[in-house]
Amino acid sequence: MTLPRIVIERCQYLATCSEEPGAITRRFASEAMRRAHEVAGEWLREAGMAVRRDHVGNLRGHFEGTGETTLLLGSHLDSVRNAGKYDGPLGVTVAIAAVQRLHDAGRRLPFAIEVLAFADEEGLRFGSTYLGSRAVAGTFDPADLDLTDADGITMRDAIRAFGGDPERIDHDTWSGGALLGYCEVHIEQGPVLEARDLPVGVVSAIAGQARHRITFTGEAAHAGTTPMDKRRDALAAAAIFVQAVEGYAGSSEGLVATVGQLTVKPGAANVVPGEVTLSLDVRHAGDTERVAASRALLDIAAQIAKHRKIGVSTAEISENATVPCSPRLISTLSLAVQDLGRPVTELASGAGHDAVAMSALTEVGMLLVRCKGGVSHNPAESVRTEDVAVAIDVLGRFLELLSKDNPK
Ligand SMILES: [Zn+2]
Repeated sequence: MTLPRIVIERCQYLATCSEEPGAITRRFASEAMRRAHEVAGEWLREAGMAVRRDHVGNLRGHFEGTGETTLLLGSHLDSVRNAGKYDGPLGVTVAIAAVQRLHDAGRRLPFAIEVLAFADEEGLRFGSTYLGSRAVAGTFDPADLDLTDADGITMRDAIRAFGGDPERIDHDTWSGGALLGYCEVHIEQGPVLEARDLPVGVVSAIAGQARHRITFTGEAAHAGTTPMDKRRDALAAAAIFVQAVEGYAGSSEGLVATVGQLTVKPGAANVVPGEVTLSLDVRHAGDTERVAASRALLDIAAQIAKHRKIGVSTAEISENATVPCSPRLISTLSLAVQDLGRPVTELASGAGHDAVAMSALTEVGMLLVRCKGGVSHNPAESVRTEDVAVAIDVLGRFLELLSKDNPK
């Protein structure tokens, strides 16, 4: 079987390592992740790598080089609920394929390669993203160990049950000497490459994102006896806000904003809603633009509340700045694409990735692979075998070019 076909089959196999029958759900430190590790560990070994699992639960494969430096390649093995097959696993399996090619040819590069299959990027189990990559980058927050999952299990206990020592996560921080950078292959999760009819694209930057929680507080009242002009309906206010968010982002270049969660209290058919809590997610590749947009949208929420004589409170959940990819890795990846006779395109990634966390440790670069309809976080996620072939070839060429630039 050809390597691209093997990559596709491996992603399909990983899809069977799931916590839910008939769907792909693979949370941090779960039984499904344990099964994924068993098989991915075999693939790493077959490609000539020494394999180990670190404390936080990342699976790591090390391919010796002839020099002192190391290049990190990776992506994540966890998933969202009811996920697709490729978001995460594609990056891991393409990295393994590129190393497999070197191993099969009996080649060693002037630098070592460490393949990182991260334990948690999506944050499904504990609501805290990038657990695996933050551990490697040295930015893991020990306070997160007290977070609990839906079953009341703490992260500390989950890590212990998975075989790691939660008190030694600082040992997971990269300590293997000088790094040439971190490079991640990932499905695009957007429609740009498909629209341009290109198999792969080089990421210029990973767009920053801000998350806020907004609570409108009105007054719960009887749906039958409270006259319309006496109501302080929190949901009616929230509905206006949701539309305002859509309208604002729709008329601002490069901005996307989403209300994805809405909790209505008391949440009964015969009660005027007294309180609504909603999420606001704002993204733009420009930090100034994103910060300004968040401020404007929070202002709009305040105006709506004032006009309707209800209360509003807001809380910032997270604010991640835009992460620019390394100019050196961008140009090397671009040259690799060009050497294969393919047109080079650069694009910003609207989705967050492990590369965001890894940027605290080293320079980062990313290669995106076209996906069908730009669909991700969905069982319909799909990539073409031909595009996977291009991704493996580009990564292979990228390694050759790095070898020339970094002879030991
Ligand atoms: Zn991903």
